[in-house]
Amino acid sequence: MRCVDASAFVVQVNSNYLKLKAGYLFPEIARRVKAFSLSHSDKDLIRLGIGDVTEPLPLACRQAMKQAIDELGTEAGFHGYGPEQGYLWLREIIAKSDYQIRGCDVSADEIFVSDGSKCDSSNILDILGTGNRIAVTDPVYPVYVDSNVMAGRTGNAFDTGRYEGLTYLPIDASNNFKAQIPEQSIDLIYLCFPNNPTGAVVSKEELARWVAYAREHDSLILFDAAYEAFIQDKDLPHSIYEIEGARHCAIEFRSFSKNAGFTGTRCAFTVVPKELKGQSITGEIVDLWSLWNRRQSTKFNGVSYIVQRGAEAVYSSNGQTEVKSLVSFYMENAKIIRNDLLQAGYSVYGGEHAPYVWIKVPEKMSSWDFFDFLLEKANIVGTPGSGFGASGEGYFRLSAFNNRLNVEKAMQRIGDL
Ligand SMILES: *Cc1c(COP(=O)(O)O)cnc(C)c1O
Repeated sequence: MRCVDASAFVVQVNSNYLKLKAGYLFPEIARRVKAFSLSHSDKDLIRLGIGDVTEPLPLACRQAMKQAIDELGTEAGFHGYGPEQGYLWLREIIAKSDYQIRGCDVSADEIFVSDGSKCDSSNILDILGTGNRIAVTDPVYPVYVDSNVMAGRTGNAFDTGRYEGLTYLPIDASNNFKAQIPEQSIDLIYLCFPNNPTGAVVSKEELARWVAYAREHDSLILFDAAYEAFIQDKDLPHSIYEIEGARHCAIEFRSFSKNAGFTGTRCAFTVVPKELKGQSITGEIVDLWSLWNRRQSTKFNGVSYIVQRGAEAVYSSNGQTEVKSLVSFYMENAKIIRNDLLQAGYSVYGGEHAPYVWIKVPEKMSSWDFFDFLLEKANIVGTPGSGFGASGEGYFRLSAFNNRLNVEKAMQRIGDL
């Protein structure tokens, strides 16, 4: 046996990863579901847990992708590396259909096509300094928090699961799931509307107050609009750029995952307006667009030509019809879940402009107690609210991503409890 100083032979790891709470939400759910299934193999489990779509890909997208594959098989139609920012034809149709039509001043060269909003909302930290004061809502999409932990932008976790150094803005029934605008100065604010996990939405007036705050404090809003397609009320904003001044203070993330069922196909985009500015440690003023462009050009090689053609087809007239029908299908599920739970006596939130229904769990139960209760008594898998943050304790998320039969069966079972 050699007895040497191990440190001389071992690479250093990013120790920030060790700060992450070990029992991450979805693995823990998987563990409990597996344990239950092993001892109850006869039970028909209905999964309304993880936020993944279930309906097949739109025909318009599939046809466009098949055609793109055939093109690649010809000398004239072959495509190698594409632009790191995405093909101009895709960025132009996005700029026109998602923004200019709504009166938002966003141009094709401010759009960066990517393989996902999860990656973009984490990768954006690459171009932002370590000294920023950061705010997230609680509960929150866990990616915003964990990516900050990994990048060393937080201290250690407290027993509550919250991290030292982050500012948490609680959202619960008492404030109607609307975070209070901070009194102190925050540099970086993550907002997600329609919200995952609570299904809450923001009005133009409320969003204008966030933009005003950001302008006053020179902060940057990271606006996640992954669920904008689920908005049913024409007065609600789909984009933060519907608010005057947002070009000076917001980056927006959009994805084809939830509207067009691209969770496995992978395509999204991020909007970085040319007006956005930041400061280096020496006080130099730099624009964020240039940094993000540099970051993507260096670390990313673009989304596959095939997939970008598939995404382009979302904007075709057939594509639009299919996407609208997918969204209505999930929203009808959400309505069934909402109504049946209300009938069963639950307090229910969300599910009107988002594919998530957020439930208050019965008195004296924790979120995990309710998880076990639903799993054992109704064989339904949902997501404990506490997994999204300390203030999610006492709540539970059911997703509308499933087929109609399963949704109806699940609601029948809850009604029978
Ligand atoms: C599903 C989801 C996304 C989309 O992520 P992709 O990586 O594009 O699939 C983004 N933000 C939130 C809050 C989501 O729930």
